This record gives sequence, structure tokens and C-alpha cells, in this order.
Amino acid sequence: MPFTSLGLGPKITKAVREAGYTEPTPIQSKAIPIVLRGRDVVGIAQTGTGKTAAFVLPILERLSSHGSASGRRSIRCLVLAPTRELALQIEENARKYSRHLHLRVAVIYGGVGEQPQINALRQGAEIVIATPGRLIDLMEQGHVRYDDLEIAVLDEADRMLDIGFLPAIRQIVKKLPVQRQTLLFSATISKEIEALAQEFLKNPESVQIGRTSRPADSVTQFVYEVPAHAKTSLLLHLLKDENLDSVLVFSRTKHGADKIARRLEAAAITTATLHSNRSQNQRIKALREFKSGAVRVLVATDIAARGIDVEALSHVVNFDVPNVPDDYIHRVGRTARAELTGDAITFVAPDEENDLRAIERAISKRLPRVTVPDFDYRQKPAERLEIPIGERIAAIRARKAEDRARAAAKAARKSVPRAGALKFREAPADKHVVGHDSRVVQRQERGGSRLGQARTDRHSGRPRRRK
Ligand code: AMP
Repeated sequence: MPFTSLGLGPKITKAVREAGYTEPTPIQSKAIPIVLRGRDVVGIAQTGTGKTAAFVLPILERLSSHGSASGRRSIRCLVLAPTRELALQIEENARKYSRHLHLRVAVIYGGVGEQPQINALRQGAEIVIATPGRLIDLMEQGHVRYDDLEIAVLDEADRMLDIGFLPAIRQIVKKLPVQRQTLLFSATISKEIEALAQEFLKNPESVQIGRTSRPADSVTQFVYEVPAHAKTSLLLHLLKDENLDSVLVFSRTKHGADKIARRLEAAAITTATLHSNRSQNQRIKALREFKSGAVRVLVATDIAARGIDVEALSHVVNFDVPNVPDDYIHRVGRTARAELTGDAITFVAPDEENDLRAIERAISKRLPRVTVPDFDYRQKPAERLEIPIGERIAAIRARKAEDRARAAAKAARKSVPRAGALKFREAPADKHVVGHDSRVVQRQERGGSRLGQARTDRHSGRPRRRK
């Protein structure tokens, strides 16, 4: 079925053609006509199914078919997204599809200066894509008006609930006109999502594509069983294959992501990192370089990777097994976007088998185990991850002995007078004492009287002998 038969106007179908899409994806075929009819929609779709266009295209059609109620440039559609990356992704799509229309798009998210976003709102934008936190900040400062709002979208609603955005969403939706169209998209369906739809939508139509909790069938998934210490070597080994030309590596932790990136860079593999310790500008740059092919590998954590949409991403590597099956589905959904195919590789250390089994249960599929023939699985750890307890105790003892020796030497140098020789005066209980050598007193106050000269009685503030 061609796009033109869905009820979209020529300017929008032209932009879609220019984006290279020849026909709608299943979620688009189902959702676009319903959104065009003005109905509320709950869309359950796997990642990478084309769901952004499924709501953006009919929204553009509706907005461009008439002006705003007030006749001013004002917010007519609000899209809420859980992460900055997803917000930027939706913005990019909205700009692409609206290039032949006279609609303005603004994006609002935290971690960057407010002023440009405030300016964009002042100049007027029909479509605002926002993460909840920053939007509320700007609402509280009086920069956001919803008088002309016609459509609200909650994208990746399941993730918004996971992050704990429900109160923020409530706070925002309370300010929207009651008379509006509301669309809710989620990768998974649950009681919580149903409750959310109940709360914010009116008599919605449901659109569900494929199974709710499985990566797209075009993703080939493998598991590589490998000891934890050999994971980086295995990754480097796999990257010898030039077919892995655009690889997204997931790490559970930011520290882990940095470590992997350092090892890859040391092996002359162009790498960027994406996690929440990086500034927003660094994150945008990393994504841009990865998308353009300037870097071959992007190492990311889960939260940061939400919304990453890279066309022709060939491989996703789960360096660690995600401990939530949902994260696995999202990670894997980053490859094989739309019509393309892709590989998802998961490295599994022995202590991650339980998490893997939970994922296999969730996707109702046993993932094939793969052994790389020319990889040395029995290699020794390159670096020791754990220092044996005996060595740690010995090191602590040595450090303490050193401290004691240093303190004794210092005491001898100073030949601090004995307690009896110090002059004390009555001091408030919390002040302790002031002797002639205030450094001694300071040490005493910190409780660190290694010098053993004099201590004050905690209650009376008088000196007492060390036992
Ligand atoms: P989404 O599920 O919205 O994140 O979209 C996944 C990817 O599919 C994006 O890269 C879109 O540009 C692409 N896409 C969306 N609709 C189509 C379509 N009808 N044909 C081909 N690619 C599409």
C-alpha cells in the first residue's frame, strides 16, 4: 500500500519519498488513518518499526490542514519523550517530514542552556518535543502556553514510567486543554501502561504490531559464552572483521563504557562514548560522528542509548548481559531498523547466565550459542580484577606502619611539650582547648592524637592522659 493512499497530503508524501521510504511499515499503515481521524491511540510497537513516522506524519497532516485557533504561532502539538536522545531523534524526524510545510519544531531538554530553548518558544513553534524535567522548569518560569494545544504524544511511555516520570507527566498533562487528541506509544504493554492510557486518553483505539516483547525478526541474535576477563579481547577479535563497520556496544556502567572505549582506541579503532557523565554537547557529537561513519564503534549505556536511531547500524554488541529483559529488547532494537537486517551479539560470562535465561524466557526463544573458532578462550586475565585479600591486608598494615613511623618522626622533631606543660583555660564544651600549639589541638579535635601527647576529656574539655 503506498503512502498516498493513507490520507497524507502531497507535501508530506513528497518528504517521505525524499526520505527514501517506498511504502509504510505495518504500524504506519495501521496508525496513520486512525490518527488522521482524530482518535486517541495506544500504539504498542517494537523499536525500529517506524513508529515515529507513524505519529509524526498524521500529526503534520492535521496541523497543516488548518491554522491555530488563536491565529498565532503557538504550541499545537506536544511530544513527551523520556530521554534527550529520543527527543532529538523525534525532532530530526519531524523536521525531515515537515520540510515542505510551514510548521516550526522546537526541542526542549535538560543539560544545556535554557535560553536558546526559551527563544525558540518565544518565536513560536507548533510542534514542541520535550523531556519532562526541563519542560516543567520552563513551564514554571511562564515560558510555555498550551492554549492552542491540539495533540499530545507520550512516546516510549514504558520507559518514562521506569524512569519515574509519572508525577512529572501528570503535572504537565494537567495544564493541557481537556479537549485534545492524545497518543501513547510504548514498546511493551503492562498494567501500568493500561492505567496510564486510562488516565490520559479518551476511548483510545489500540494498534499493536507483532509480538510485544520480542526484537524484530530481522535481527539475528547470538550469544558468545566468554569469561569476563576475555570480553574485550573477544570484541577486538570480532572487530578484525570489516563487516562490523558500524557497531553499537552496550555496557551496563559508565565506567565500563569508558574502559572499553580506551581499549578500542588503544587498538586504533575509532570509538565514541555515550553516557550520562558526558555533557550534552559531547553526547550529540558522539552520536553525530557515529551516524556519519566518522567513528566505527559507539560505546553506550542503556539510558543514553534510548532513541539512538542509526540507519544501517550493522551490529549491536551487548558487552554485559542486561539485567532487565526489556533493556535487551531495546538494545537489540537499535539494529535492523525498519527494513534493514542486523546482528545482535551478547557476551555472556558464567555469572551472567541467570540474566540471560530471564531474557530468553521474556522473548520465548533460546538464543544460539556461538564459539569463535580462532579465539583463545583460555587466555589468562590481562589484568587482575581483584587483589587477593591477603595482599590487601598486608598493604593496609604496611601503610599503617608507615603512618606510625612518620608520626613518631614528626613528634620527635617537634618535641611537643607533655600534657602537663600545656596551658589550658576553661573552654566551652564544643571548643575543647587552646594550647600554645594549636596544631596539636586541631589534631586532637579530629580525634587523631597519634602523637599521644594530650587529649581533652570530651565532657569537661580538660586534658586527660592517654591510656
Ligand atoms: P522508529 O521505529 O520510528 O525509531 O524508526 C526506525 C527507522 O525506520 C528510522 O531510521 C526511520 O527513518 C525508518 N523508517 C520509518 N519509516 C520507514 C518506512 N516506511 N520505510 C523505511 N524506513 C522507515
